[in-house]
Amino acid sequence: SVLHPFSFMPNLKHKTEEDISKEFTYIKEGMGSWVFDKEGKNYFYATTAVPSVGLGNPRIINAMTNQFHKLSFSSTCGQMHELLQPLTKKLIELTDNQFSLAFYTNDGSGAVETAIKLTRQYFNELNQKEKSCFISLDGNYHGTTIASGSVTNMGIKEAFGVQIPGCFSAPFPNMLRPPIDGTEDEIVDFCLQQLINTIEKVGPEKTAAILVEPVQGVNGIIPANKRYLKEVEKIAKANNILLIADEVTTGLGRTGYWTASQYYGIEPDLLTISKGLTGGYFPMGVTFMTEKIENVLLKEGGIFLHGATQCGHPVGCAAALELISIIEEDNLLKNARDIGQYIKTRLKISLQDIPNVAEIRGLGMMISIELADKQTREPINFKDGEILSKKLKTQGILGNYFNSILLLYPPLNTSLLDADFVIDNVTKAFKNVF
Ligand code: PMP
Repeated sequence: SVLHPFSFMPNLKHKTEEDISKEFTYIKEGMGSWVFDKEGKNYFYATTAVPSVGLGNPRIINAMTNQFHKLSFSSTCGQMHELLQPLTKKLIELTDNQFSLAFYTNDGSGAVETAIKLTRQYFNELNQKEKSCFISLDGNYHGTTIASGSVTNMGIKEAFGVQIPGCFSAPFPNMLRPPIDGTEDEIVDFCLQQLINTIEKVGPEKTAAILVEPVQGVNGIIPANKRYLKEVEKIAKANNILLIADEVTTGLGRTGYWTASQYYGIEPDLLTISKGLTGGYFPMGVTFMTEKIENVLLKEGGIFLHGATQCGHPVGCAAALELISIIEEDNLLKNARDIGQYIKTRLKISLQDIPNVAEIRGLGMMISIELADKQTREPINFKDGEILSKKLKTQGILGNYFNSILLLYPPLNTSLLDADFVIDNVTKAFKNVF
């Protein structure tokens, strides 16, 4: 489908521009929250969770341009440039000084890969080499590399054959599609017990880390239950297991908090961010680690055996620093919370008579509408979904439509006027199809 969340590389060698624009949204230009296709039709860009302050932001472009002129590249392998320390200090401050070190990567998958490798290195250094297994939750998405793909539980990794050994899964308390029938508390208790059982099966002495996505993104924007996450943190600590919060999507403002972990009140040992770090102006990621981990990894003279040549790029750092200033000065965390809530509340009213709308949920500027039979919870048929995603495009909304769930990621600086556009046109699309 045109709004599938995974990227396809079409055979560009043999296709004409016209063929491609039939299959894909062919974006020519973008400004603020809006993109324009070849014909000049405009779409509200509510996809990917990347543009935090929209496209073409003059302040960010200016900061990057100045940096390009001053120092367009330097590596972080045995070198340092003047923006890396200010950005690192700022990021550590924004995450409540829970972390002592930020390790830069080129994307989100790289940040998760780094968290997995540093976890292994941590236990190796502690002479607990057998502690090398990972538990991640059903429906989690963690990335495209072999290790980040191995802890992804979305029916994708099987296609690639090879997975890293020692990856296990436990149920996620998805309240619309729960692993058992019961109240919210019963479902949470069940999932916690299953996690404990999985740790016992693997062996706590072999379990290195538990990976959580505080709000599952690709799987349908499903916020975790608060008590569940707090208990997972306790279980991890009690068993000398590290907690990795994958905040590649939720990190740096998307949920209306700098991190979703702050909203949930959890303190992971490692935390990854990427999409919101530069808001799409430069591909970058970060893996944070606590002092406890840093102290072990740095004990042998401070040499990391992991790191990419172009990570911590000066132009990316300039973009990130400017973006953070904009979020702070324009009070965009609050805007993300308020406008996100406004969109959800109004959609719940405007879509209340549509029989197939089973749930409207999210946190901040992560909003999803799940289509399913309200009684049986069976997903709607694929054809209706395809028609809906086409209709949304006609109505000028670019979202992601996947597994009968519409995912909307409006920029953090979405205005009330644009929020009304989203609400009105999503409603029109639904009313037209159902
Ligand atoms: N973790 C999560 C939670 C994600 O949502 C994603 C991207 N969808 C990734 C990791 C991988 O990030 P990237 O696509 O930048 O490699």
